[in-house]
Amino acid sequence: RSKEKGRNTYTIYHSVMDINGYKRFSLEKGLRKAIDENELELHYQPRVDAKSGAVLGAESLIRWNHPEWGLLSPVDFIPLAEERGLILPLTKWVIRRACHQIQAWQERGMPCVPLSVNVSAKLFLLKDFLVHVNQILKETRIKGEWVEIEITETSILDNQKLVESTIAELKEIGIKVSLDDFGTGYSSLAYLTQFKVDTIKIDRHFIRNVTTHTSSATVIKSVIHLAHGLGMRVVAEGVETVEQLTFLKQQRCDEIQGYIFSKPVPVTAFNQLLSKERLTPHRIHDPSEFEN
Ligand code: C2E
Ligand code: MG
Ligand code: MG
Ligand code: MG
Repeated sequence: RSKEKGRNTYTIYHSVMDINGYKRFSLEKGLRKAIDENELELHYQPRVDAKSGAVLGAESLIRWNHPEWGLLSPVDFIPLAEERGLILPLTKWVIRRACHQIQAWQERGMPCVPLSVNVSAKLFLLKDFLVHVNQILKETRIKGEWVEIEITETSILDNQKLVESTIAELKEIGIKVSLDDFGTGYSSLAYLTQFKVDTIKIDRHFIRNVTTHTSSATVIKSVIHLAHGLGMRVVAEGVETVEQLTFLKQQRCDEIQGYIFSKPVPVTAFNQLLSKERLTPHRIHDPSEFEN
C-alpha cells in the first residue's frame, strides 16, 4: 500500500505491509548502511504559536530515502532500529543533523528556530547518552537552548529514577524536554508532577475527537489547565481542522503542530515557512485521508 498525495508533498510511504521476510532482512542490513551513506533525511514540521501564527520551532522527523523502495516512514524502521541495536547511532545521526541545520541557519544569517528531536527513552537508560549529546553540541558549537528532546511517556515506565535524573541533566545544559504523545500511556497525570518536563505534547488521537466527543474536549481542557498550573507549555499535535484550532485557542493551548499549518517538509520548503511572519491555517481536503 502506498499513498500518493501529489507531487512535492514527499509523502509516498511504503507501508510495512508490503515488507515480506526477505525485505525485512535486507532492511536490517540496509539501515546500518543508510546511517553511514546519507540515505536518511530530516523533515521539519513547524510548531506554531496558537495566538499569533508565528513559527516558534519545529519537530525533526526522520525519513529513509531507500534506494529501491523510496521514502520509508519512521513508523516502519524505528522499531527495527530499536530491535537491532541501531537506535543509538540513528539518534546520534538525527541530533547531529539537526545541530548542523541550526549551524547552517546561523552562519548564513537566516531565520532560525529551535529544533526538537525524538529520543527513544531506551536511550535514557544508557549511562553515556548525555556524553554523546554533549559531544555533538561541542562539535557543532550549538547551544543546548536550540535543541529540545521529545520522549514518550509509555517508555518512561522502565526506570523512572534514571529518566528523572537524565531530564535534570539535560536541563542543566539548556536542552528542553517534552513529553510526547501525552495521553496514550498510563498514569499520565502522575507523570506531570514527577517529571519536570518543559512541554507536553497532547497526542493527536485526543485532538482528533475534540470537536466530536465531549469527553475528549473535557480531558484536553483539564490537561491544559493542569500543565499551565505546573508551569509547562502545551503543544497540540495532529491539528487538522479550523474547529479543532478554534477550540484549542479558546482553551489557551500554547502551540499548534498539525497539517492545518503544514505537514513535515524538507528543509528548502521549511525555509520558506520560516521566512513568513506568520502561517495561516488552511483546510485540508479530507482529514480522514491522513488517518494513520
Ligand atoms: P511523533 O513524535 O508523535 O511525531 C508526530 C507524527 O504525527 C509525525 O509522523 C507527523 O507527521 C504526524 N502528524 C503531524 N501532524 C499531523 C496531522 O495533522 N495529522 C496526522 N494524521 N498526522 C500528523 P511521522 O513523521 O510519520 O513520525 C511518526 C513517529 O515516528 C513519531 O511520532 C516518532 O514517534 C517517530 N519518529 C520520527 N522521527 C524519529 C526519530 O528521529 N527518532 C525516533 N526515535 N523516532 C522518530
Ligand atoms: Mg515527537
Ligand atoms: Mg507525538
Ligand atoms: Mg510517537
